[in-house]
Amino acid sequence: MKIKDIGGEFALIRRIKNKNKIFSKDVAVGIGDDAAVLKYDKNSYMLFTTDMLVENDHFSLKYSSPEQIGMKAIEQNASDIAAMGGLPKYAVVSLALPSDIDAEFVDGLYNGINKKAREYKINIVGGNITHSREIVVNVAMLGFAGKKSLVLRSGAKIGDLIFCSGDVGASTAGLELLRQGKSGKSIKRHLEPRCRLDLAGKLAKIGINSMIDVSDGVASEVKHICDESKAGAVIYADRLPISKNTVNDSKKIKKNPIDLALYGGEDFELVFTANKKKLKQLKKYDVKAIGEVVDKKYGIKLVRNGKKSGIESGFDHFRRIRV
Ligand SMILES: [Mg+2]
Repeated sequence: MKIKDIGGEFALIRRIKNKNKIFSKDVAVGIGDDAAVLKYDKNSYMLFTTDMLVENDHFSLKYSSPEQIGMKAIEQNASDIAAMGGLPKYAVVSLALPSDIDAEFVDGLYNGINKKAREYKINIVGGNITHSREIVVNVAMLGFAGKKSLVLRSGAKIGDLIFCSGDVGASTAGLELLRQGKSGKSIKRHLEPRCRLDLAGKLAKIGINSMIDVSDGVASEVKHICDESKAGAVIYADRLPISKNTVNDSKKIKKNPIDLALYGGEDFELVFTANKKKLKQLKKYDVKAIGEVVDKKYGIKLVRNGKKSGIESGFDHFRRIRV
């Protein structure tokens, strides 16, 4: 049976999770969140995540410099640590490279990796190199979160407001501009995304109930929070934070910016839920309420142009090629 026949990437993860056995009491959260949560000491948890970039799927050398690929490899892993309310600390980098690749490619890649490692104070402590037909860059990252700061996907409560940070849809708008050979401000958002380590810790301190990073589009992230929290949701499409640049660029590529925000990916913003009482404190930051958590029996609904409908699933790595 093909992966697409069992329901795609997320069904595949469920299938793996169902056969997974945990042998240690120190695993607080295993498969199913942005990072694994491992008991560490009296005050903190250790977080463990990994993410991969594959040539001609996640990036193309036609569009990205080696440095940009290295930067993105660190950003996307740091984003998963941020989404748990933690800070990254250690990483190992594994590369699969075609045997005829230039050494300068690897120099450039590591320039990007080291630049981000310096910015976020992440220690690169090892890795592995092997060969393959296309370039693969995999990072595994360890981070730490104070016990009071840890935020899971599974903590959403009925009545919570759903928030989204920054603005979304820009990365996919940028990718589409590149594909169509057009220019626009969103291109940089695709090639050099930034995770929200600057914001996630502050949100965790305020006391939010659940959080996830936006790697596959807002619709998909809300669905993950609902699945893990056994809840439903209403998302108001007209409240999605979309920048003027993204709206302008969407016109050039003939896409609806709301679709890019809901079903695009790699914005690395944060989607989170919090009690309504936290609204005043949260307003200090660049976050926007986009919906509400409801009982599971209502499912996940999208209100768009006054009409209520179900949501499509987000980016699925086995159904669509990105580059
Ligand atoms: Mg994530």
